[in-house]
This record gives sequence, C-alpha cells and structure tokens, in this order.
Amino acid sequence: MHYQFETIGTIHSCFKEKFGIPRQPGLATEAEATLELLPPYNQPDTLQGLEGYSHLWISFVFHQNINTPWRPMVRPPRLGGNKKVGVFATRSPVRPNPLGLSVVELVGFDRSACRLHLKGVDLLDGTPVLDIKPYLPYVDAIADAKGGFAPHAPEQSEIEVIFEALAQQQLAEISGGKLPQMMRLIQQLLQLDPRPAYMNNKPQQREFGMHLHNFNLRWRMEGKRATIFEIKQVAV
Ligand code: SAM
Repeated sequence: MHYQFETIGTIHSCFKEKFGIPRQPGLATEAEATLELLPPYNQPDTLQGLEGYSHLWISFVFHQNINTPWRPMVRPPRLGGNKKVGVFATRSPVRPNPLGLSVVELVGFDRSACRLHLKGVDLLDGTPVLDIKPYLPYVDAIADAKGGFAPHAPEQSEIEVIFEALAQQQLAEISGGKLPQMMRLIQQLLQLDPRPAYMNNKPQQREFGMHLHNFNLRWRMEGKRATIFEIKQVAV
C-alpha cells in the first residue's frame, strides 16, 4: 500500500551536512533551526495557540536517505557499531520508510511569517517537514519507561575542546555577535564525538571538518583532546 504526503514545511538548520549532527534531538541544546511553513499551510491561523508549548514533535523525511536501502538489522553506534539489532529496535536514520520523529524545543516564532525557531535539533538543513504536534508532558514523559540498550543519555565524553586563538578570532568575525552561542554549540558537538564509532578507541591523531551555519570548522583529534585550528566562512 502506498500513501502520498505533502511537505508542509522546510527546516533551515545549522547542520549543512550529515557529519556532526547529533544522533538524537536535545543532545546539543544550542543546535538551532527555523521551521518555515510552505504554501498552502503557511497560514498564521495554523499556529494559533502554539505559543503555549515549550516543545514540539516534528515529523519529517530523511530526504538524504531516500535511496538508501534499509536492512532488517543494523549496528547502532551506541553498541560500538559492531553489535547488530533489529532496525525497529533502533533509531537508525535508514529505515523501511524514511520518516523521522524528533522532539525539539520551541524557542520562539514569527506567526505572521509562519516561521518557528527551534533548538536542540538533529535535522539536516533542507529537511522536509510533514507534521508538527505539541509535546504533551502528561502523556509523552513516561518516567518509568524502559530504554532498552539506550536507557540514558550517552556518557558525556571527557573530550576536551580547545579553540586555537586564530580559530576563535575567525569565529568572532563571522558569528554575527553570537560568538558565545557558536562556541557552546561547537563544544557540545565535539564532546558528542561525531567520529564513526569504530574510531573512538583509535587514539591516532586525525583532522576532521564540519560545515555548520555559515562556516567550515576544522579540528585535530589527539586522544581525548579536540583542537579547533581553523574556522572559515563558507560563501552562501
Ligand atoms: N530523532 C529522529 C528519529 O528518531 O526519527 C532522528 C534520529 S537519527 C539517528 C538522527 C540522524 O539522522 C542525524 O544524526 C543525521 O545523521 C540524520 N539526518 C538528519 N536529518 C536528515 C535528513 N534530512 N536526511 C537524512 N539523514 C538525516
């Protein structure tokens, strides 16, 4: 059976590529996005009353996985990337239908422009949105729920994040007065260690890059230390 859905909105996110996006929402509280409603759904009436909620469920399409074949079993990074479990027992981004669901913080919105300002996202820039629903703590927050092989947030890694002076200066010049927030976001993302799971225990020094907001970030990993050595503006 096939069903057709309409995209009701688009995510404009700080994440311009998949590498570096947290594996779940809420893990990088400074990860910002704007959800822009599209015609004919961009009617301010549709948002009437939304200001009463602090969090939203966003249903979306993994648009960059559309052609990635799904497998009945996957290797969750949480299990070190080598143990297999069933695809329905994970939040693998590759699944039979590329439908995602994330709970995100609603930090503000412009009703007339039909744009919602979100934080704590795990969504790639350009992600199509299929639905928005308010998060209802009395039904959605189940304190004694069992969390399978992911019963709690990933251990806060002891990765030390260091900005070389030049990189911090480069960020200050392009962050539009939001240097502290940008530094906090970068700190949060690197402490989540975006490297593939198999690299975690290989302490060799490596250089990595990530396209965030309007800049490319480059850092060196040496053991548990991440040193940011270059931040370059990307022509939009
Ligand atoms: N919370 C959602 C869920 O459970 O349905 C997503 C979980 S999934 C593990 C999150 C990952 O999906 C991100 O780390 C990123 O790599 C990937 N991702 C985010 N937006 C995407 C998109 N539009 N297309 C493909 N992959 C995407």
